[in-house]
Amino acid sequence: MNRRDFLRATLLGSAAVAVASSPIELFAAKDKSKKKSKQPLRISFQEGTAPGKTLGDKLDYMEANGVVGFEPGGKGLSGRVAEINKLLSGRNIKVSAICAGFDGFILSQDAATRKIFDVTMKEIIEAAGAIGSVGVIMVPAFNHQVPVLPHTADTRAYLIEQLQLLGDHALKNNTTIILEPLNRKEAFYLRQVADAASICRDANHDGVRCMGDFWHMTTEEPSDYGAFFSGGKYLQHVHIASRGTRNMPGEDGEVDNYVDGFRALKEMNYPGFVSFECGCKTNREEAVPTALKLMREQWEKA
Ligand code: MG
Repeated sequence: MNRRDFLRATLLGSAAVAVASSPIELFAAKDKSKKKSKQPLRISFQEGTAPGKTLGDKLDYMEANGVVGFEPGGKGLSGRVAEINKLLSGRNIKVSAICAGFDGFILSQDAATRKIFDVTMKEIIEAAGAIGSVGVIMVPAFNHQVPVLPHTADTRAYLIEQLQLLGDHALKNNTTIILEPLNRKEAFYLRQVADAASICRDANHDGVRCMGDFWHMTTEEPSDYGAFFSGGKYLQHVHIASRGTRNMPGEDGEVDNYVDGFRALKEMNYPGFVSFECGCKTNREEAVPTALKLMREQWEKA
């Protein structure tokens, strides 16, 4: 054996040993053994997503394209219960979640602002229950909402207490409240799925849940897979958008990759919806079907 062959054999041998015994290889081997669920991808649209003039048109479009969830906004929802129930009757579409819509905010320093939040949020929860929604999405405090309670352990304890009370109201109405972590530009207080899930765990209440939004996760999460997995049994909803500009999935090209996150959702047997929360920078009639195709292909691949 000449020197070159010796080096080659030694390097290959040591590399093989190193690979076989490394934690990465063990993890990968374990990963391959995980059984992925046959869980279908349940796609949901917010009210502005589908082409069409009226809500009826949009729901027709959604039904024809296999979209099974509808996420209305919470603003004025109690006045729309009858309309929404009528339009959804006989369709294969359920209300996936209610997107916020309350006034005031839960972590305000000002008691009157907290009261406004409580009254308007409870009204939305009641309407959400009446249209069969999985939950009502809420954010503890947006950056522009001031004066805000300080980001301390006491505030966290207060938040949990308040969430338990709201959770009681939600369960009474056959729905839940869903904490949404946002990116730091919108809300510094709650930014990661794991933090939201940890609040849910400490609230220890069936009416208190959390979600992940691919758009915010792009900024805040080191791993889509890790983020969704950290939501565990508390993960109740998912938002999706393109990852560069928050438009239709696919409109930002290569960066619109959701496979890693979808893999977690499949392995977790995530039973909820993946709901569009995004604009559209091209033509909605073309961008929506392209986005649906891209998501279904990536779900299949995950
Ligand atoms: Mg969102």
